[in-house]
Amino acid sequence: MMDIRIGKAIVKRVEESLGPGAPPDVLFPEFDQGKFDPHKDWMIPNHLEAESGCLMISSASWYVETQSSKIIIDTCVGNCKDRPGYPPFANLETDYLANLKAAGIDREEIDYVLMTHLHIDHVGWNTTLEDGKWVPTFPNAKYVFSEIDLATWDPANGPLPNDANLGVFEDSIQPVIDAGLALTWKEKLKLDPEVTAYLTPGHSPGHCAINLTSEGQTALFSGDIMHSPIQVIFPEWNSLFCEDRVLAEETRRKILAECAQKGYLLMPAHWGKPHAAYVKKNAEGTGYLPLFYGEDMPMGGAVAQEKKSFLSKLVSPFQKGG
Ligand SMILES: [Zn+2]
Repeated sequence: MMDIRIGKAIVKRVEESLGPGAPPDVLFPEFDQGKFDPHKDWMIPNHLEAESGCLMISSASWYVETQSSKIIIDTCVGNCKDRPGYPPFANLETDYLANLKAAGIDREEIDYVLMTHLHIDHVGWNTTLEDGKWVPTFPNAKYVFSEIDLATWDPANGPLPNDANLGVFEDSIQPVIDAGLALTWKEKLKLDPEVTAYLTPGHSPGHCAINLTSEGQTALFSGDIMHSPIQVIFPEWNSLFCEDRVLAEETRRKILAECAQKGYLLMPAHWGKPHAAYVKKNAEGTGYLPLFYGEDMPMGGAVAQEKKSFLSKLVSPFQKGG
């Protein structure tokens, strides 16, 4: 994926994995086959694998370079982790570190590691295994935690909300706290002049979104507010992993409305290619449409037409990266 420019800031995507994940009727408890079927055409192959019927799910970090900071948003699953509560994520051997390097990112130069929330698949590369010890992957960074999520997932505060996170705090969070690299915030955080994090609860109690604004353009890193672009069409579909479903839907609708109204580029954690989209109200005004980033995405004629007219009204943030 080429670099994305948001004003003067640069955004890169560092991939850990991309492939068929869960079937939609498993990931979305509110799933409705009849509503879903008319959308299969534009979802295959980037967002739905035809053969398996599974949603295409990716795991990636977003790298943001502003005028003053180098930031990693979310750190995926990680390698070599013991995951008794969620075996599919145990002992992975992905090329994440090589991908980071290939993107021209030096992990020693990262200033901040921001996590949208502290679920198992957003904190893994906080640490790497060196000589049998978990050490910070980004040794010169401050790791920035929402206080609410930090308290929620600290096993010292009682049983975890779910077993999937068993062992996660111990190997991916405690070591960066012990290294003196943790920074916490409560309601809103102005990290640098161009980057702000704010609470978007529901998926997890302290889930946050992150806005990057430069020269009037904004990218909104939305973490797990939506796992698939089908949730843009059906915001009432929560993921299985949303902890407070009422609040998660409310937050999803709020973020979609804001992106549609203000022309923000939505950059979620798990979408298939091209991994980012603008959002527009549908013609009836009853819901939203994803207008995917870039040119080579499969979309129906009506959506493509909508996209063209919508994008013509925006300043294009897309320039080839250096
Ligand atoms: Zn996730």
